[in-house]
Amino acid sequence: MAAAAPVSAGESLWPEGSGAEGGFVRAVLALPDKPDTTVRFFERGEHYTVHGGDALLAARELFRTRGVIRLLAGGPGNQKLESVVLSKMNFESFLRDLLLVRQYRVEIYKNKAGSKSTKENDWYLAYKIIQRGGIMITDRKKAEFTTKDIVQDLNRLLKSKKEEQVTSATLPEIEKQVAISSLSAVIKYLELLLDESNFGQFELTSFDLSQYMILDNAAVRALNLFQSSVENANSTQSLVGLLNKCKTPQGQRLINQWIKQPLTDKNRIEERLNLVEAFVVDTELRQCLQEELLRRFPDLNRLAKKFQRQVATLQDCYRMYQAINQLPNVVQALEKHEGAHQMLLLAVFVMPLNDLNSDFSKFQEMIETTLDMNKVENHEFLVKASFDPNLTELREKMNKLEESMQSLLKTAARELGLEAGKNIKLDSNSQLGHYFRITCREEKVLRNNAKYKILDTQKNGVKFTNSKLSSFNEDYVRSREEYEEAQEAIVKEIINIASGYVEPIQTMNDVIAQLDAVVSFAHVSNGAPVPYVRPAILEKGQGRILLKGSRHPCIEVQDDIAFIPNDVNFEKGKQMFHIITGPNMGGKSTYIRQAGVIVLMAQIGCFVPCDSAEVTIVDCILARVGAGDSQLKGVSTFMAEMLETASILRTASENSLIIIDELGRGTSTYDGFGLAWAISEYIASKICAFCMFATHFHELTALANQVPTVNNLHVTALTTDEMLTMLYRVKKGVCDQSFGIHVAELAAFPKHVIESAKEKALELEEFQTIGKPEESEGEPAAKRCYREKEEGEKIIQEFLCKVKALPLRDMSEEDIRTKLKQLKAEVLAKNNGFVNEIVSRTKVTP
Ligand code: ADP
Repeated sequence: MAAAAPVSAGESLWPEGSGAEGGFVRAVLALPDKPDTTVRFFERGEHYTVHGGDALLAARELFRTRGVIRLLAGGPGNQKLESVVLSKMNFESFLRDLLLVRQYRVEIYKNKAGSKSTKENDWYLAYKIIQRGGIMITDRKKAEFTTKDIVQDLNRLLKSKKEEQVTSATLPEIEKQVAISSLSAVIKYLELLLDESNFGQFELTSFDLSQYMILDNAAVRALNLFQSSVENANSTQSLVGLLNKCKTPQGQRLINQWIKQPLTDKNRIEERLNLVEAFVVDTELRQCLQEELLRRFPDLNRLAKKFQRQVATLQDCYRMYQAINQLPNVVQALEKHEGAHQMLLLAVFVMPLNDLNSDFSKFQEMIETTLDMNKVENHEFLVKASFDPNLTELREKMNKLEESMQSLLKTAARELGLEAGKNIKLDSNSQLGHYFRITCREEKVLRNNAKYKILDTQKNGVKFTNSKLSSFNEDYVRSREEYEEAQEAIVKEIINIASGYVEPIQTMNDVIAQLDAVVSFAHVSNGAPVPYVRPAILEKGQGRILLKGSRHPCIEVQDDIAFIPNDVNFEKGKQMFHIITGPNMGGKSTYIRQAGVIVLMAQIGCFVPCDSAEVTIVDCILARVGAGDSQLKGVSTFMAEMLETASILRTASENSLIIIDELGRGTSTYDGFGLAWAISEYIASKICAFCMFATHFHELTALANQVPTVNNLHVTALTTDEMLTMLYRVKKGVCDQSFGIHVAELAAFPKHVIESAKEKALELEEFQTIGKPEESEGEPAAKRCYREKEEGEKIIQEFLCKVKALPLRDMSEEDIRTKLKQLKAEVLAKNNGFVNEIVSRTKVTP
C-alpha cells in the first residue's frame, strides 16, 4: 500500500493535514460529474492522487493490484472515497498511456494557494499549448462575451446591400454560439462602436478552414517559415525571407498570408502555378514589372483605411492619382504577353485593372480640376486658385508678393556685389518662410552690415533677410494661411468624395498585391542557384510524393554550401513512413524539413527546388521537433512533449504530412524510446499518414520488420584515418554499422578492440541480411559493401597523398589539370563501387 501524500504546508484550498482529510474528500466529491474517459489528477506537493473510478483504473492498469487503493473517510453520510497515490514517475507513465494510447482526456487539479478555483482542467492544458504557441493572451471579463447586444451591434457595423437595412438577426452565423460570443468580446475589445466611421464598413463571413492546409506551431518553426521567432534568429534565412521579393507592402503582406495558408484545392493551386509560370517564362515582362512598374504603387490598403476614416489629406489624393495613372502602363505590359496563360493573365489582372481604371476616371478628373499641379512639384498640395474667386484673389496677391521679393533679391545682389540666382538666392521653407541664402564662403559680405539680419548659419549656407523682405514675407505667410483656410471647405469636399472610393482602392490593393506576389514567386523560382521546377499536383488521397533531386531552398542559398540533392519517395501502401538514422550533423533534419518545405511551397503555388516533383495535396503539416540537446527537464518538458504529440495524433489524417525530429530526448532514454516506438507504430499502422522521422534511436529501425510501409533511410558519412566527412547523401537501409567503429578509430582506440568490434559488426550485418533473398546470393551484400568501402577509402587516401605530394608551385595550371585528370583516371580505373558513388555525387557542374 502506497504511503499517503505528505501534508503540504501553506493555505490549501482543499484542507489537508490530519483531521482535514474530510475537507479534501468533500471537495473532490463536490466536483461535477465526468465521463469515465476523463481522468482527474490532483497535485499534492510531490505526488499526485486519483480518486473514485480513476483510482480503480490506476490500480488495475498501472499497479495491477487493488492493494494500492486506500479508502479516505469524511464524505457526506460517511461516504468513503477510493484513493491511489502516484509518484511523479507513475503519473508520467499513466498520463502517457491515457493521452497517447487510450486517447482519453485528463484534468489536473492544482492546490494553488491564493487561487479562487480548484479546477484547472482542460483549460490548464489548453493554456499551456497557447503559451507555447507564442500567442499573447489578454484576459477579458466574462460579461464581454455576452451576446445580448450583438444583433444591434452588427446592424450598425455591417455593410448593407444596396441601401437595404441590415438584419443581422437572420444571418446564419448568429447560430454559431461560441463564435458569436467571441465576436462580441472582440468588438468590445477593439472598441469598434466608439468610432462612427466604422459603421457600415464590415462584412461577416465564416472562414472555411478546409480550404487551407493546417500548420501547427512546431511545423511553422521547423520549416523555418518566418523570421521573427526566437529559434530562427540565428538562421540565415526563412522561407518568407526567401520568397518575398515584392515591391509593394501589399504584396509582402500577401506572401506572408499565402505562406500561413497554403491551399488544398487543386484548381486554385494550379491557377497560381499557371500565373507563376507565365512570369517565369516571360523574362521581359517579369523584369519590367519588378524593376519598374510595381515599385510605383503605394500602400493602397493604408490609403484605403485613411480615406475610410476621413483622415486623408490632399497629398493622399495625389498619391492615389499617381497610382491610378500607372494602371494603363501595367495593362499595356501584361497585354504584350503571348504565352500559354495569356487568357489567365487577362482574366486575373488585365480586366480588373481596366475596370478599375474606368471606375477611377471621375476621381482622376476631380483631382485634375481641383489640385494645383504646378505647386505639387514643390511638394505643396493646394487647391487650384481658379477653383474659387476667393482663392484666385489670394493667389494673385501671393504672386505679386513673390514678384516683389524677386526684385528685392536683385537689389540685395547689387548691394552685396553678388549675382542673383547664382551665389545669392531667394528660398523658402515652412519654418522661416522666404529668405535670402548665400554660401558660407560668401559670408563675409554680411559682416558689419546692419541692413541684413542673419537668421541661421549652416553647412548648406547662410540664411538671412532684411526689413523689407521680412515684411513681404509676413504678408505672404498671412495670405497663405488665408488660402489654406479658404480652401478648407473645398478640401473637405474633395476628401469626402474620395472616401466614396474606398472599395475600388481596396480592390486595386488586392489586384496589385496578387500581381506583385506571383511575380515575386516567379523571380525567386527563376533566380535560384538551380532554377525551381513546376510541381505536378495530385489530388488529395493519391498518396504519392516524389521529389527527385530535392534541395532545401533556404540552406542551398547559404554562401559556403554546396548542397547535395536527395530524393524523397512516398507511395501509398508501399512506403509512407521513413525512419532516418545516421551520424549527428549528417543532414537528417535538413532532409526531413526540406520535404516539408517543398510540399508547402507546392501548395502555395510556387515552383519547387527539385529536378522534378509530384506532390499529393496534404491537409496538414504537423511537426514534433525535439528539445535539441536539452537534458532531462522533468515534468514540464515531458508534459509539453506529450501534449504536442497527443495533438498530432488527434489532428493527423492519412492525408497529413508529419515530421518528427528527435522525439523523446526530453526524457530518459528508456521512456523516450518507448514513446518513439509507440507513436511511430500508431502513425504507421493506424493513421497511415506521410511521415518522416529522424532519430538517434537506432532500435527504431526494427519497426520496418513489423509494418510493411515503414522504410529505413540513413545519411552517409565518409571516414578516413583523420577525418569524418559528411556526404549528406540519403540512402536506403539502416546506417552503416561500422560507422561507430570508425569514430572509435579516430579516437585512437586500441587496435585489437577495434578489430574485434569489426568482426562483431560484420556478423551482425550478415545476420540482419538473412531472409532478404535479393541480397543473399554470392557474397553477402553487407560484407561486399564493407569490403568495397575499406578498399575505397584506401584508394581515396592514396589519391589524396599523391595530390599532396605534387610540386604545385612549380607547375602551370595546365600541368596541374593534366596531372589531376591522370590521377582521377587511375582512381576510376580501379572501378570501386564506393569510390564511384562518391565521384558521381561530387561532380561539379560547370
Ligand atoms: P542532423 O539532423 O543529422 O544532425 P542537419 O540536418 O542539422 O544534421 O545538418 C547539419 C548541417 O549539414 C546543416 O546545417 C547544413 O549546413 C549541412 N547539410 C545538411 N544537409 C545538407 C545537404 N544535403 N547538402 C549540403 N549540406 C548539408
